[in-house]
Amino acid sequence: MNLSYWEIKSWLCNTDFTVVGSGIVGLSCALQLKEQFPKSNILILEQGFLPQGASTKNAGFACFGSLSEVIEDLKTHSEEEVLQLVKMRVDGLNLLKQTLGETSIGYKNYGGYELFLEQDDLYESCLTQMNSINQLLKPVFNAPVYSKKSNVFKFNNIKEYYVFNPFEGQIDTGLLMASLLNKVQSKGIKIINNCGVENFTESGNSVKIKTNLFEFSTSKLLIATNGFASQLIGEEVKPARAQVLITKPIKDLHIKGTFHLDKGYYYFRNIDNRILFGGGRHLDFKGEETTEFGETEQIQNRLEELLKTVILPNTPFEIEHRWSGIMGVGGQKKAIVKQLSNQVFCGVRLGGMGIAMGSLVGKELAGLSSC
Ligand SMILES: Cc1cc2nc3c(=O)[nH]c(=O)nc-3n(C[C@H](O)[C@H](O)[C@H](O)COP(=O)(O)OP(=O)(O)OC[C@H]3O[C@@H](n4cnc5c(N)ncnc54)[C@H](O)[C@@H]3O)c2cc1C
Repeated sequence: MNLSYWEIKSWLCNTDFTVVGSGIVGLSCALQLKEQFPKSNILILEQGFLPQGASTKNAGFACFGSLSEVIEDLKTHSEEEVLQLVKMRVDGLNLLKQTLGETSIGYKNYGGYELFLEQDDLYESCLTQMNSINQLLKPVFNAPVYSKKSNVFKFNNIKEYYVFNPFEGQIDTGLLMASLLNKVQSKGIKIINNCGVENFTESGNSVKIKTNLFEFSTSKLLIATNGFASQLIGEEVKPARAQVLITKPIKDLHIKGTFHLDKGYYYFRNIDNRILFGGGRHLDFKGEETTEFGETEQIQNRLEELLKTVILPNTPFEIEHRWSGIMGVGGQKKAIVKQLSNQVFCGVRLGGMGIAMGSLVGKELAGLSSC
């Protein structure tokens, strides 16, 4: 199909910035660019009919690290690095709230809980190190972050205490992404969906982009494709699929908050009188290292079993729906935000805490490309 003169003139000519990927990073980056360069032409290309990676699929934890995660990170990062990681996530969440407002993202500050299964060997060492980690994080929160709490939600087969974190919240993932998309479009930034970038070549001051629909040129190219990054660029990012299920509404549901279970390998929360429950990637790391969406019996059965035996042991429930999303992970927790060549930049590898990091990474990416 030949594009019309009008389509070429109004959508594909004089493009200053082209962003690939309309997840939280790509959209935040485009917003920041528009703020810095109000007259610029910005185009976002998205391969899905909606954003199709992690940003519309996630569990909506507004979190910055459970106690066991912080302790785990200290094995591979210095104290200063861990403090900076937590600070970045907290700053990122604040930027997100500032950009869209708490109501537009459905933010609820119900607190977060870490639960330990009966056989969990981390429990004792987490409780022992709790005070020193609180001390480490004091410069960020100015108050103790983690404390012991008894089993008020009556979960089964877990240790006597949870670790409670009053600073953790939850968002409505769909509301957040719809609000962000609205804001981007209201600023005159164009989004073309169902348009996958296949490759690009740089020459002089421009980049030629080939998509599944058309070819065109842009002054600068910003890649925000997270788990799909290695299809376009050579950075160290592996895809990591994460599976989720959600129950039908449960009458008088007593559970409220965000919950991390078994070193964060599982996570669940309340939403609309339902339980949303995800995780289990560690049951088949190799199989879940994929950009294909899908659910497997092995992981879904384990999620259901934990719902029955740990989370809702005395409450009848039915599963309404299941889905998956694709994350981008790697050896380091830090996102990769860098200039790849004269006119090409990337902000990828958001890991499992992209809600907290996404807007900040988008801002950093915009900053890099506007120097
Ligand atoms: C099930 C699940 C639960 C999660 N839970 C949480 C949570 O509770 N809290 C939290 O903070 N984080 C969570 N995360 C992680 C978080 O969702 C991600 O870190 C974050 O959304 C990453 O945003 P992004 O914009 O970098 O990537 P994405 O949202 O994946 O966006 C990348 C976009 O690029 C598009 N794309 C890829 N290749 C191309 C191409 N060649 N051409 C055009 N477009 C392309 C994709 O379709 C996609 O829309 C979860 C993730 C999953 C999957």
